[in-house]
Amino acid sequence: MENRNLQRDLEQLDSILKEQGISRRDAMKMMGLSSAAFMMGGTSEAEAATEVRASSAKGKVLIIGGGLAGMSTAARLRNSAPDVEITVIEPNPLSTQYQPGQTLVGGGLWPKSEIIYHRDDFIPSDVTIVEEKAVEFDPDNNTVTTDKGTKISYDYMIVAAGIVLNYGAIKGLEAAGEAYAAGDNKKLVDVLNSVGASSIYTADGAEATWENMQKFIADAKSGKKVNGVFTHPNTPIKCGGAPKKIMYLTNARLNEAGARANANLHFYPNGGSMFGIKDYHTAIVNQFKARDFKWSYKHNLVAVDGVNRIATFEHHWEEKGAWDEDLEEYSVIKKTEEVKVPYDFLHITPPMKAPDEIAKSKIGSKKGWVPVKKETLQHAKYKNIFALGDIAAVPMGKTGGSARKQYKVVVDNLISMMETGSIPKTNKEYAGYTVCPLITNIGTVMLAEFNWASKKTGSGKNAALLPFLDPTQERYIWWLLKIYLLKPMTQYGMLSGRA
Ligand SMILES: Cc1cc2nc3c(=O)[nH]c(=O)nc-3n(C[C@H](O)[C@H](O)[C@H](O)COP(=O)(O)OP(=O)(O)OC[C@H]3O[C@@H](n4cnc5c(N)ncnc54)[C@H](O)[C@@H]3O)c2cc1C
Repeated sequence: MENRNLQRDLEQLDSILKEQGISRRDAMKMMGLSSAAFMMGGTSEAEAATEVRASSAKGKVLIIGGGLAGMSTAARLRNSAPDVEITVIEPNPLSTQYQPGQTLVGGGLWPKSEIIYHRDDFIPSDVTIVEEKAVEFDPDNNTVTTDKGTKISYDYMIVAAGIVLNYGAIKGLEAAGEAYAAGDNKKLVDVLNSVGASSIYTADGAEATWENMQKFIADAKSGKKVNGVFTHPNTPIKCGGAPKKIMYLTNARLNEAGARANANLHFYPNGGSMFGIKDYHTAIVNQFKARDFKWSYKHNLVAVDGVNRIATFEHHWEEKGAWDEDLEEYSVIKKTEEVKVPYDFLHITPPMKAPDEIAKSKIGSKKGWVPVKKETLQHAKYKNIFALGDIAAVPMGKTGGSARKQYKVVVDNLISMMETGSIPKTNKEYAGYTVCPLITNIGTVMLAEFNWASKKTGSGKNAALLPFLDPTQERYIWWLLKIYLLKPMTQYGMLSGRA
């Protein structure tokens, strides 16, 4: 594997740590990142970090989707089982783009080139890439057919096809259609620009967001009173923190320009709170108040009028109805109203869904996500299929941080299935860990770590990075983690199957 940017990234990391008087090894140790070892090489730490199960299993494994989860799984499986035949179906040559960096591109902190990585730099030895799209799934006969008519059979299949950005579901954005985060999304950006909207959910969109944000700030600086509107849709999304992170960065950039007083910043989430976990919710509300942000819960963006620069939301709530004699309780009446909001800067987090060709196939589900036993990530019906990453029907699991825990579980369980036809109870289970590094300013991050039981992570298998620190506090050290450590950990650690 050629690590094009590794040296540059490590040099940047060393220089910032030097300023803080910390060595790279100490910083990594401090954060409990065993992945540090893969960058240092040759030490016992390195051996521990790269320790994978050695197996002589044989058979054909097909991976659908060569993004973060799919390519990391291919690499770890190759490290573990050299005789397994591995094929990855992935249509996009830029599928290994570093998506968490899109927020930083949108805030003007990184150029787009910082996050563009080529899939073919991450192909593990002896893994076949089929640059096509899987469109037909026949799990009863263990075959998949691609858009180019190639039929591929498998003994085991791993589904890691991510999530679709469904911009076209918003009235006024029909021409934008559907998109993936990686790849060429210039047409999507043209549609968004035509209505004066921005969105960091694609790399091209993130680059355009920074351009639009600068115009917004220039208007505020010129004395114009401007309105910034930020949305969060009514579907599950990847990286639930990103809709807020871009708002915090807009605020930081306005402050830098001395123009904050002329800008109103308003957040419209579909949900009824800032975060599913009370402590993080309270922390965010306090951060919003301190920054004079406005917010309106239970608002879902349904239409954009680009000519008049008006965003339309469906505001929804429930009211107490009549007393039900039989149930002995009050009925609930669902109410909605249309709310029209003028904007100068509109950041859209689009509705998201599982890819239709999978959602509507035998391996999908009513809601689209691939149904799995959440601890083992094995398909609910087909025992030779696993799913992980954004497409898996796992509560709150749509982050790279979750995928980092999941791919090791999948490889371990897959090897057990190949060797013995079952998954022993002793195999490590996925415990629902996820993480949201919430950028709250240029220089601070609140590292919200939690699990699917809606608990802040503590010790044991759900351990937080630095469990003795209050996770609801905004900290500079987490900013360093976000800016300098998470990318190498992802691009060189996970994608080589070791972190
Ligand atoms: C703006 C933004 C900010 C984020 N911030 C963070 C963060 O701070 N921390 C964090 O942990 N995570 C963050 N994430 C989320 C993280 O990037 C994703 O959760 C992660 O990339 C999921 O990996 P995946 O492999 O499931 O999906 P992806 O990496 O998206 O890969 C899915 C792949 O499947 C392919 N595919 C789809 N359909 C088919 C098909 N039919 N046949 C073959 N291939 C197919 C696609 O082409 C794609 O390459 C962020 C994401 C975004 C967009």
